[in-house]
Amino acid sequence: MSIVILGAGPGGLSAAYQLARAGKKVVVLEKDSEPGGALKSLRFRNFIVDYGHKELYARIPEVFRFWDDLLGDQFLPVCNRVGVLYQREIFERDPKYRGFRRGMPWKLFVRCVSQAAWGRVSRIRKPIQSRQDWNIARKGSGFSEIFNQGYHQKVTGVDWSDAYLPSTSSDPSQNAERRHPLTGTSLIADKLISGIQEAGGQILLGTTALSLSNTDGKITNILAQKHNGALFHLQPETVIAGISLELLSSTLGLQAKPNKVEASFGRKVVLVHVFLRCPPRMPHLRLEVSCPESQIGRITNYGAYDNDMVPIGLGALCIEYFTHGHATIKSRANLQKKTIRELVDLDIIDEANVIGVHISSTSHSDAATSWEDYSRDLTRMQMYDFACSFSNLYPIQRSGIDRSTHAGILAASAILTGDRQLFLQKTKPDFPTPWLS
Ligand SMILES: Cc1cc2nc3c(=O)[nH]c(=O)nc-3n(C[C@H](O)[C@H](O)[C@H](O)COP(=O)(O)OP(=O)(O)OC[C@H]3O[C@@H](n4cnc5c(N)ncnc54)[C@H](O)[C@@H]3O)c2cc1C
Repeated sequence: MSIVILGAGPGGLSAAYQLARAGKKVVVLEKDSEPGGALKSLRFRNFIVDYGHKELYARIPEVFRFWDDLLGDQFLPVCNRVGVLYQREIFERDPKYRGFRRGMPWKLFVRCVSQAAWGRVSRIRKPIQSRQDWNIARKGSGFSEIFNQGYHQKVTGVDWSDAYLPSTSSDPSQNAERRHPLTGTSLIADKLISGIQEAGGQILLGTTALSLSNTDGKITNILAQKHNGALFHLQPETVIAGISLELLSSTLGLQAKPNKVEASFGRKVVLVHVFLRCPPRMPHLRLEVSCPESQIGRITNYGAYDNDMVPIGLGALCIEYFTHGHATIKSRANLQKKTIRELVDLDIIDEANVIGVHISSTSHSDAATSWEDYSRDLTRMQMYDFACSFSNLYPIQRSGIDRSTHAGILAASAILTGDRQLFLQKTKPDFPTPWLS
């Protein structure tokens, strides 16, 4: 009997790595022909770039040390220069660039400062009920709209007047050093995979877990299918699930239908990678697009990582479109044209320098980094509690590569020490800062 891990994303691979190296028999089932989940890279000619923007947060010291040990001198510091694109102008999010006005024209800056002063007054007069009130009271409506609101609404799909108040606990990683693997996030997957295989673990690619059956509160059978259609059964000792809660719930036979008003369901991202024969005209690592007139959510500039993702002298961008619920990008055929046109209009690229475009989309995949909204989505919490009710099942998918990795590491250590409670307690999604407790 072995430990079966569903999904070879960052969470599943990290769990498998720890368990295989501790001498356990592990089998990873991965439905795609390539392992890595969100860590995968896109290869085009000599480019090897992440799928969309992939920031390795330093929120969880244990995880950051894990990556550091894994990557060694291939984990390079990154200059995390972030800009905000608002009404065709780029303003700096990091105050150390372009002085205190952050690139804002005087007139706009003065208007925003006076709105910030008014915001502080209105805070005394008006109760703070939404994220909008909370931000206006701290920064005023002008700075909030430019630097936070539009972008946040695009990523989460939640209007700020309905959004919950942010947690008051400060994030200690805000000013932490940013680092990235030499050839992008797939390097983490590559290192984990070779560690698993060297320790005797198995990774079955092109293999989908179809259903899990249970006896007496334990998962006792997994029905899986190979890409050629062949079905087979596994009798696991323990199951670690690095797949989304929706998929896990359906393999468990749970018929719960997500409520449409629950924002965290149905988030999707459409990615347009643009490869260039010269660097783009922006020094930023990424731009957050906050003006509602543009459908673009985020622009990542892989050349600004200063590593080996982009060959010297060339350029690569990824433009991310966030969609929610039933809203989709209607015509993919026009998306390429529309994206290039917008980048040219913004003076970021010249069309003549485009040497390749790749469009991809992700479903059941969440670019928002907060589990706070998950904890407000009742159906999701029911799915989570249902999965946890099986005593040998560990659901580890979280929003954030670091959090999934953390949940994978904690699941592995719970299995090795026999302390499942510690896993449940430290990774509980509605716990405000589980990774710090
Ligand atoms: C566009 C985008 C940008 C993001 N940016 C960031 C970021 O900057 N920083 C950050 O920390 N997080 C980011 N995230 C979130 C992050 O990608 C996820 O939190 C993380 O990938 C979750 O890891 P995981 O291992 O749990 O799952 P995944 O990476 O989703 O891996 C799950 C794996 O399971 C496989 N699978 C699915 N169903 C089955 C099945 N039935 N049987 C077998 N295998 C199956 C899938 O093919 C996949 O390989 C982003 C997400 C998106 C979509």
